Amino acid sequence: MDLFKQEIPKHFNLPQRIHRLPELAYNLWWVWTPDAQYLFSHIDSYLWECCRHNPVAFLSKVERPRLNAVISDRIYLERYDRLMAQFDAYLQAENTWFQQEYGKLSNQMIAYFSFEFGLHESLPVYAGGLGILAGDHLKEASDLGIPLVGIGFIYNQGYFVQHITEDGWQETGNYHLNFFEMPIYPLYELDGDPLMISIDLPGRKVYARLWKVEVGRVALYLLDSNVEENSPPDRELTSRLYSSDLEIRVSQEMLLGIGGVRALRALGYEPTVWHMNEGHSAFLALERIREMVSKGVELSTALEQVRASNVFTTHTPVPAGIDQFPLWLVDKYFPTFWQELGLTRDEFVDLGRQPQSWGDSLSMAVLAIHLSARTNAVSELHGEVSRRMWKFLFPECKKEEDVPIIHITNGVHTGTWLARRMRVLYDKYLGENWMDRIDDLDLWERLLDIPNEEIWAVRAHLKRKLIRFVTDRARQQWLSGNAHPVQTLAGGVLLDPHVLTIGFARRFATYKRGYLILSDYERLLRILNNPEMPVQIVFAGKAHPADEPGKLIIQQVYRAVKDSRTGGRMAFVEDYDMNISRALVQGVDVWLNTPRRPNEASGTSGMKAAINGALNFSVLDGWWREAYNGNNGWAIGEDLDYSDPNEQDRVDAESLYDILENEIVPLFYTNRTQNHVPLGWVARMKESIRTLLPQFSMQRMVKEYMRELYLPAAVAIDSHH
Ligand SMILES: *Cc1c(COP(=O)(O)O)cnc(C)c1O
Repeated sequence: MDLFKQEIPKHFNLPQRIHRLPELAYNLWWVWTPDAQYLFSHIDSYLWECCRHNPVAFLSKVERPRLNAVISDRIYLERYDRLMAQFDAYLQAENTWFQQEYGKLSNQMIAYFSFEFGLHESLPVYAGGLGILAGDHLKEASDLGIPLVGIGFIYNQGYFVQHITEDGWQETGNYHLNFFEMPIYPLYELDGDPLMISIDLPGRKVYARLWKVEVGRVALYLLDSNVEENSPPDRELTSRLYSSDLEIRVSQEMLLGIGGVRALRALGYEPTVWHMNEGHSAFLALERIREMVSKGVELSTALEQVRASNVFTTHTPVPAGIDQFPLWLVDKYFPTFWQELGLTRDEFVDLGRQPQSWGDSLSMAVLAIHLSARTNAVSELHGEVSRRMWKFLFPECKKEEDVPIIHITNGVHTGTWLARRMRVLYDKYLGENWMDRIDDLDLWERLLDIPNEEIWAVRAHLKRKLIRFVTDRARQQWLSGNAHPVQTLAGGVLLDPHVLTIGFARRFATYKRGYLILSDYERLLRILNNPEMPVQIVFAGKAHPADEPGKLIIQQVYRAVKDSRTGGRMAFVEDYDMNISRALVQGVDVWLNTPRRPNEASGTSGMKAAINGALNFSVLDGWWREAYNGNNGWAIGEDLDYSDPNEQDRVDAESLYDILENEIVPLFYTNRTQNHVPLGWVARMKESIRTLLPQFSMQRMVKEYMRELYLPAAVAIDSHH
């Protein structure tokens, strides 16, 4: 019997012949199924763009004559029928990878908690890589048939809209998201009231209602505190990501961890494995211990069982990046919690204690590590860094290698990030079902069968598409009447589809060193404006609104971009999101990344570029340190750590310019066939796709999570019963 109501809204007025389109719209399966997107975009492609590729908004706005036109279009209807059959087959499949490999575990459930989920630009509730990774993880769990449920927040003001002033200063605008025009829907009690959970915060209860997102076969539930029962400040608790206010942060993290467990209970879930994607959700462990103790389980047993079934993924290689709370906040927010667990305050704090120069604090990462039997880092190098960083928590380990933190290198969800034209090309040469075995290294040997001309033609198409995308955005900005002419130039209207194109798009955090390529500006100008072999660079990225140094780097980049001496060969695309990210990773020739090693725990945007045939040009940090083989891209600088950051900048910048000038540019422009196909370049591109696509796929990654973390946790719990 159902405990609550969960059904997609039915207010669309569609012709009977295509009445199932809302079902499709409310399941994000369309995000990684180009043929499903076609069913919307073909009805009205202009409206589809205006709605940011959001099918729910699209279906509420599309005009009846457009709908009437497609129901008399035989080809459209054939595609509709075929696609709906494929959708049903996907949802009902009984021969998934999980069922084949782990069929006897199908009554298990894995709960996946994350502060942000980046699934698509129409759900702008992510800030960057952490969220995109979580979104890709859910999609792949769906593809593999893994029984997994996600918990997070729906932020009604999203992250933020970025606007750059003529002088290059980042201004922030707010979204006011209309959830009823997004691919999510609210859950209700049987009596019609919104389904809610609550937690105790100082002096009050705070409530949150639940929304559901369907991600293929996986359900994601999002908490929303904007309900009448809450005071105005509490209604704002889930309005935006990453507040700098510690009290808001601790409240949000209590809502995610404690409220998330309660939400799963209210929904009837009994997960066996609990996965914390970063430490923000670590309070879930406390709530689970409290649950058990309140049912009469001994504290030591509860601790042991909760630990055995928790999995923690750390993403932060620098101590300053970790959420930690001063003890006065712990006293204020957990005044009775330790008594409920049967602990003293000191024993309670010990669960997450991290000594600081200013006194002890409660660290979310320490809490997560203490209360998870399995912890992983997100690349090989990050594994080394994490074992060094957390060794103090394991006094019994004599050597760093003995610290029990493994690594599982990140990956990207191929279907989400691969250009449609590249997918068609792989279909042709690898066989129709290649997506069922993306991580099969042998399969990718067949890539060499693709004729050079054919793959190059697709690449040229994707670059033209990127340049049209960038130009259209610049035109819209100019049309808005709010832009200075030089901003239209900076928006990329002088880009040329025949020129070697470098992409640099990511959060403008200082460690990403967006300024590095500008450090010898005169040399850069010579490289850009070489009349025989010109180069162009497209930038995009946001700085956190409170990150003044990050905003200064954007300004430095923007001032260079609009300098007439660049000849319009540099561009800055405002308001970086997944849409811009897709256009860039699919369209550029080279993907540049210049983090200050070892601060990039993994990085994933370079993987997205690689699967589309762009070549990585990056510091040997994060994933690239283990991916680079000498022939599948280029390495900036050495495989070394530096103690002096200025020295590191100097060495890396020199290496960057030398390789760009002496290797990358000539490889692109010389040794071309009569049809202008650069043979050396295409060979390197195939080597890059062949070695990187299978290895840095979400499919490989999620299978490793299953094997190394989820399965051992499920088995450990099973043996307790
Ligand atoms: C992939 C992606 C990221 C993560 O990029 P990295 O710099 O490689 O960590 C951030 N933002 C968006 C929009 C992305 O698509």
